[in-house]
Amino acid sequence: MASPKQVREYLAHWFQLGKPVVLENGKAECLPYPIFVGSRYSQAFEECWQQILHKEGADCYLKGTDQTIAMLLSSAWEVVSCARCSLPIPLPDLGYSSYPCPCHDLTSWPNDEIPRPRMGVDTNQYLTVLQGRLAQVRGDDQPAVRPSYDPADAANIAASWRGTS
Ligand SMILES: [Zn+2]
Repeated sequence: MASPKQVREYLAHWFQLGKPVVLENGKAECLPYPIFVGSRYSQAFEECWQQILHKEGADCYLKGTDQTIAMLLSSAWEVVSCARCSLPIPLPDLGYSSYPCPCHDLTSWPNDEIPRPRMGVDTNQYLTVLQGRLAQVRGDDQPAVRPSYDPADAANIAASWRGTS
C-alpha cells in the first residue's frame, strides 16, 4: 500500500517532467506550477491534491497510466523506483507488473541532460544545518558568538590601573 506521502511524491516527480494528472476520467487535467515552495508543496500542488482527494482519488490518474490514485492508495498497490529511469512508479503489491513505467510515452526521458525531478529543498534549513556542523567542527566549548565589548569591564580595568600607579 502506498502512503499518501508516497503518492504525493510520485505525482510531484512526474509533474516535473510535464505529465499532468487526469481528473474525473478526462474531464480535466491538473499540472500545478510551481510544485514546491522551498521544501514544502506549493499552494497550487495542494489545491490539485484536494481535487484528487475529492473522490478519494477515484477517476484520477497520472496521464498515460492505468492506475487511479484510489488504486495506489489501496492495499493492492505500492510505489517503487522504476528500474529504467529510477522515478517512482506504481507496482502491484503481489507480483510482477505488466504495466509500463509512466516514462514509456516520454521521448525526452530518461535524459541525462535535463535536471532530474527531485523533492523541494529548504535553503534556509540547509544553511542552519551547515552552520550547526561548522560550530561542531570548531568545538562545542567555544561560544558561537564572541562576547561583546563590555564598558563596565573596561572601567574596572582602568580603575585597577589607577590603583597600582
Ligand atoms: Zn521509468
